[in-house]
Amino acid sequence: LTIPILVFSWFAVRSLHQDAERRSQVVLLAHSLRRANSRLREINREKTDFLSMATHQLRTPLSVLNGYIELIKDGCYGSVAEEMRKVLKNMDENNGRLIKMVDDFLDVTRLEQGRTHYNLAPHDVVAVVASVIEELNHVAVKKGVKLAPLPASIAVFIAVCDDEKIRHVVFNYVDNAIKYSEQGVVTVSLEHERQGVTARVKDQGIGFAPEDKEHFFHKYYRGSNVKALTATGTGIGLYVCRRFIEGHGGHVWAKSPGVGQGSEFE
Ligand code: ADP
Repeated sequence: LTIPILVFSWFAVRSLHQDAERRSQVVLLAHSLRRANSRLREINREKTDFLSMATHQLRTPLSVLNGYIELIKDGCYGSVAEEMRKVLKNMDENNGRLIKMVDDFLDVTRLEQGRTHYNLAPHDVVAVVASVIEELNHVAVKKGVKLAPLPASIAVFIAVCDDEKIRHVVFNYVDNAIKYSEQGVVTVSLEHERQGVTARVKDQGIGFAPEDKEHFFHKYYRGSNVKALTATGTGIGLYVCRRFIEGHGGHVWAKSPGVGQGSEFE
């Protein structure tokens, strides 16, 4: 009897010892994972701080350039020859593109640093949408795309929102609809929902395959539908739109019957 009891106790002690060893290994592992996680968070924060600092530094000289281009165009430095006007127009467009890109990066860094504020107040969403249509109409005309005006009969839609953020989202949707269409009509419609308002931007452009849309609203994602195009972009426009709409308690959505068959963003 003595031998089996001794053997049993030896096994029990050994198994207790192994358990304790495994537990201390798990504790060590959890500790180093926590350390790695906090280091990753720190690196991510440093990256966002750098992006924020760099984009802030870029914004001022770009605005100064913009001001000088306007002054030259207005003849403040003497008369401007026709040939020079074309060059100035090109400079203006490219500078505008850079300013938009820098502003998008500033929005991203503000969102990631938790510095985005929503100034909520009642606003007429129809007026917001109409102002976007008016501003982007010349871009559509240049592209050979028709940007439909809102129906004259449309009623006022009052919603509690940050009108600048809503304008930003509608602007991006309409801008994309024009950018990703070679022809056809872009329409914006508004619908009262139980919880608020739905704005829908529909185009007859390049469309997309169902598997692509899953990622459209992710940061830096550009769809496979735009790979062959010359249209430039950073893939952050829709990410910022999603974050702004979610900041209002809403949600975003993209639909298309397929590649080459137009899209709908809401
Ligand atoms: P960008 O336009 O700079 O690439 P966005 O974040 O605005 O970035 O859009 C992300 C992606 O969503 C685009 O690269 C494109 O693949 C797709 N997309 C956006 N709008 C449209 C549209 N109207 N029609 C088809 N695809 C679109």
